[in-house]
Amino acid sequence: MLAAVYNGPRSIEVADRPDPVITAPTDAVVRVVLACVCGSDLWYYRGESPHPTGSIGHEYIGVVERVGADVRGIGGGDLVIAPFLYSDGVCAHCQAGVTVSCVAGGSFCNGEIDGGQGDKRSPTTPHPAPLPGRAAGRGRSRHHGAALPGHSALR
Ligand SMILES: [Zn+2]
Repeated sequence: MLAAVYNGPRSIEVADRPDPVITAPTDAVVRVVLACVCGSDLWYYRGESPHPTGSIGHEYIGVVERVGADVRGIGGGDLVIAPFLYSDGVCAHCQAGVTVSCVAGGSFCNGEIDGGQGDKRSPTTPHPAPLPGRAAGRGRSRHHGAALPGHSALR
């Protein structure tokens, strides 16, 4: 798949990345429909903050292609929006709606987990929020553009 890859300040290129695969029962593969450039993306691009090299993009909207056996609440064909952090959706914090405090959570684009500025992504422990309706039957990926990040908009 193609994805935006950060190589250091003022160096971002579109490059091939391995297609995401489900390696844990809490994984999901999401086809990115829209991704956005966050203000914090500009900080490291300008050299104003440190950032690991690698795939970038932590705010996106996409369509779930497949999920691991333990993923609940989303499934193939669901349209989802993801914030800058991933979470497992099952710990006490997640169950209370405070997914940013997930005990198994972390941030996308940490040098190990690919970001959302690419064709597809597979968070280690996804908990993207489903948007109303199903997306099955919609067109193929358009991953340039702007998205409205923030799963809390559903609350
Ligand atoms: Zn959690």
